[in-house]
Amino acid sequence: MKKTTSILVIVLAAVLMTTGCSSNKAKYVFYFIGDGMGFSHVSLAEAYLAQERGDACAQDPLTFTQFPVLGMATTYSASNPITCSSAAGTALATGTKTKNHMLGMDPDSLPLKSIAYTIHDAGYKVGIMTTVGINHATPAAFYAHNVSRSDYYPIGLEMIESGFEFFGGGGFLHPTGSPKLEEPLPSLDGIAEEAGYTFARGLDEFAQKKCDKIILTRPENWDGALPYRFGCAEGELNLAQVVDAAVQVLEKGRKGFFLMAEGGLIDYAAHSNNTLATIFETLDFDQAVAVAYEFYKKHPKQTLIVVTADHETGGVSLGREKGYRFDLTVLDEIETNESSNDVELYMTTKAVQEEYSEKAHIGWTTGSHTGGAVPVWAVGAGSQLFAGRQDNTDIPRNICKAMGIKF
Ligand SMILES: [Zn+2]
Repeated sequence: MKKTTSILVIVLAAVLMTTGCSSNKAKYVFYFIGDGMGFSHVSLAEAYLAQERGDACAQDPLTFTQFPVLGMATTYSASNPITCSSAAGTALATGTKTKNHMLGMDPDSLPLKSIAYTIHDAGYKVGIMTTVGINHATPAAFYAHNVSRSDYYPIGLEMIESGFEFFGGGGFLHPTGSPKLEEPLPSLDGIAEEAGYTFARGLDEFAQKKCDKIILTRPENWDGALPYRFGCAEGELNLAQVVDAAVQVLEKGRKGFFLMAEGGLIDYAAHSNNTLATIFETLDFDQAVAVAYEFYKKHPKQTLIVVTADHETGGVSLGREKGYRFDLTVLDEIETNESSNDVELYMTTKAVQEEYSEKAHIGWTTGSHTGGAVPVWAVGAGSQLFAGRQDNTDIPRNICKAMGIKF
């Protein structure tokens, strides 16, 4: 009896020690990157939410803007004060700055190891997802190494070789090689299947398929980005659904997981200076973060959520020219009904988008990126590491630190 009691005490002490240690470490990590999402994109989305409930003089918080930790990250690349998405993605994935247009390589073209590989090697499951092509710059920075971000086919091959458990959102860009090629190359879809990946085309298929390695895309056989949320057909796959599906796959791992989700269409919309698309993509991104936040509430001591951007796109401002004027109510004129001609006209006509930006007094200063710092929000295990001023290269190191993984 005495022996049983002492064994019990030892076992209990061991359990307490283990849980005590692990409660300080992040076991489940969500890394959200709003491509091109600067402070003003976020304020614009918050102003839109307030305006929707009838208050034209307020800003309602998003899920992630309520996170307790806030920092700022500098974004310049190794070659330019204004970064491109592949250099920024490389910094955010590997902790090393590189030249614009390079991917997962240092300025001397030496390959860099992304935290996704380090974390995967440590036994965690890994998922990478985006609203644009899955071999586009930001997701690719987590698994590929190439002197050119535009080399989509070999980048796609590296994705397949990574062996990460989940990919989702957009499909492959250039799935049979560059369109300039006379002879198409073997399809990346087929190569992925041969390598043990199962495609789930849509959520219905996803629900039926139980597999270890999965690629979740839209229902039809298709490649490239998801459609813009503003004006898209009902039932279109969105980032929140992809994150939710990823969690179902990744949480089967006993060790934990690392999930990177990119709001890639925020950048596309801002490059076009399309105000409504920018607002809707930012809100869509926030809904994906909300899925992670629900998970966090179930595992608050073991979950870390980091939300940031790779750079700012468009130089958007709330107000343009003199006069303290900013009025989103004019956007109501464009019906949000999917069958509305107004929506289609707005989404397809640059002059109409510009007309409404002007009426709402929203300024856009460029069709490219800007060099300003971006926000960083965090909640959960290790979130304090992301407070204050930091460089984009600090973020992946601090994620590994929060997980207790050497990087
Ligand atoms: Zn961009």
